[in-house]
Amino acid sequence: MNICVYCASSGRISPVYFDAAGRLAGELVKAGVFVVYGGGASGLMGKLADTVLAEGGRIRGVIPHFMDKIEWTHPGLTELVLTETMQERKMKFLEGTDALVALPGGTGTLEELLEAITLKRLGLLTIPIVILNTAGYYDPLREMFEKAIRENFMRDKHRQMWTFVNEPEEVLPAIQGAAAWDKDAIRFAVP
Ligand code: AMP
Repeated sequence: MNICVYCASSGRISPVYFDAAGRLAGELVKAGVFVVYGGGASGLMGKLADTVLAEGGRIRGVIPHFMDKIEWTHPGLTELVLTETMQERKMKFLEGTDALVALPGGTGTLEELLEAITLKRLGLLTIPIVILNTAGYYDPLREMFEKAIRENFMRDKHRQMWTFVNEPEEVLPAIQGAAAWDKDAIRFAVP
């Protein structure tokens, strides 16, 4: 199974987020998952990659040339894919990927997560999307989604596109238990 993890580049965040990223990495390695991520060495990206590698797992980084040139790339990855653009990078995250997980992050993580949800709403992506809500970080996003549904910017059914979990140990079970989704979602994409 290939799982793509979106997460923060910042290292100036609470240890609680690093702890969760490390625990998730352990769970993924234990389950034999091939991890795909943004290729960085800093922040939660670095923690994720370091832990996967230390525990004997496999991880592919996908990073644009311009970031690699300024040495943002983690040096010890199992596989490295360099892309020309940020857009190509986001597409590569999804190629051959069985599920997506978002850890806490900034605009980069939010953009990647929201693009994936947008594609899923259109039926262009059908895989499970799990949001790891460590220490309630994503409570405002969950409330935003609820507001969008309440005010008919989305349908109730669109809530099935994502699963919020509080602990890293809940991520794989949430992927297994995610509601089925298919290309027909385009039929109810517009409320
Ligand atoms: P953020 O959640 O805003 O920290 O963004 C994470 C995303 O930002 C990554 O997927 C990249 O698009 C980009 N990014 C920002 N800083 C770095 C870095 N030092 N190394 C790799 N990617 C980075």
